[in-house]
Amino acid sequence: MKITKIQALEVLDSRGNPTVQTTVWAGDLSAKASVPSGASTGVHEALELRDNDKYRFGGKGVLKACLNVEKKIFKALKGLSVADQQKIDRTMLELDGTANKAKLGANAILSVSLATARLAAKAKKIELYEYLAATYGYKVKSLPTPFFNVINGGVHADSGLDIQEFFLIPLKGNFANKLRMAAEVFHSLKSQLAIQGLATSVGDEGGFAPKLSSNEDALKQLETAIKSAKYKLGSDFALGLDAASSEFFDEKKGVYELKASNITATPANVYQIYKKWLAKYPLLALEDGCAQDDFSGWKALTQNLGDKTLLIGDDIFVTNPIRIQMGIEQKIANAVLIKVNQIGTLTETIDAIKLSQKHKYKIVFSHRSGETCDSFIADLAVATNADYIKSGAPSRGERLAKYNRLMEIEEQLTKFK
Ligand code: PGA
Ligand code: ZN
Repeated sequence: MKITKIQALEVLDSRGNPTVQTTVWAGDLSAKASVPSGASTGVHEALELRDNDKYRFGGKGVLKACLNVEKKIFKALKGLSVADQQKIDRTMLELDGTANKAKLGANAILSVSLATARLAAKAKKIELYEYLAATYGYKVKSLPTPFFNVINGGVHADSGLDIQEFFLIPLKGNFANKLRMAAEVFHSLKSQLAIQGLATSVGDEGGFAPKLSSNEDALKQLETAIKSAKYKLGSDFALGLDAASSEFFDEKKGVYELKASNITATPANVYQIYKKWLAKYPLLALEDGCAQDDFSGWKALTQNLGDKTLLIGDDIFVTNPIRIQMGIEQKIANAVLIKVNQIGTLTETIDAIKLSQKHKYKIVFSHRSGETCDSFIADLAVATNADYIKSGAPSRGERLAKYNRLMEIEEQLTKFK
C-alpha cells in the first residue's frame, strides 16, 4: 500500500482555534488524523506553525501548515509504503531540516505521521492499538489508569488557582469502572459547588473552574466530593496535581509565586509546599512541580519526594528523547508525560517512550488543553503499555472521545481473550 494522495484541512479545535486535519490515501483507502494544541506550552516544544495573519483567527490560522502538507510533504512521501512509518517520519524530518520542526511545522508533520499509521492499520484490517503494538514490539497488557482533571486552574481557567490541574485518580476495578467512579464524583462535586454558590461552568479540559480561596481548598473540595459520592479517599481514590509551575515561576527573580496560597518559594525549597500537601492528602501524582529549565529545583524535588509520589516531567521533557536523556542522567523525576504534538512524529514519540521505559520511568499519556475528537492517543497508550493517561474531566466530547475509545478497547480485549 503506497501513499497516493494527501489532503489537509484547517479545522477548529475545542477552543475554537484552527488546527490541522490531514487525510492520507493509498488508492481507495484513506485515514485521517487531527492535531491538538496546548496553552501552557513548554518553550522546548516543537513549533506549531501559525499563519500570523492578524486578519484571520487573530493570527492563529494554519493555512501555511496545510499547504506544507499538500505540497512539500506530499511530494516527498508520494509512493512510499504506508507501513514504513520510520521512513515516512525520517523523510519529513529531513525535509524540514530544523531541530524544532520550524520550517514545515510540527502540526503539519504530526498530522501526516498519525494519519499514515492509522491508514496502515486499516490496510491490515486490524485495530490501531494492535497495529501499533505489533509495529513497536509490545504485547498489549492492561489499560492505563486515568487521571481526571476535575478542577481547572492556571492558564486553563479564570479560577485564580495557581495549580493548573487537580486530578481524581480512581483506584478500583477495570477502566470502565474507574471512569464510572470518576463521573459519579464529578457530579457530586458539581452539586457541592452549586450549594456553595460557586460556578459550575467548565474550563478548557472539562473540569470545574470555581473561584476557590486557595489551592488547598481545591484538594479539600475533592475530598468532600469523594465522600459524598460514598467513596473513600485513599483506598477508592487517590488525588494528583499538575502544578504546571513554569507558569508561576518568575525567571527574573528565580522564585515560584503561588498567589492563591500567598506563598513564594525558591527552587531549593519549593518541594516543601508539595510535601505539606502530601502529608495531608494521598497525592499519587505531581506533574511539573518545578519549571521547564529549573534543573536544580527538579533535583531537590526528586531527592525529597521521588520515593513518595509520581514526579511527572512535562515541560522539562517535552516528549523529547534528548531532554529525557538529560533528566535520566541528572536523576530528575520518575515519570514522563507523553504528548505527541510536543515532539511531532510518531517515531520520535515511540523513541521517547522506549527510552523512558528502559530507565524505569513511568509513562503518562496526555491530551492537550486544545483538543479534537481524535482518539489516537488512547490506542497509542494501550499499545505501548502506558501506566497512566490524562484526558481531562469526564465531560466535553473531545475529552470523552479518548475515554470512550479506551472503554471500547477494553471491551475488545476482554471479549477476545
Ligand atoms: P496544555 O496543558 O495542553 O495547555 O499544555 C496540559 C499540561 O500542562 O499538561
Ligand atoms: Zn502539564
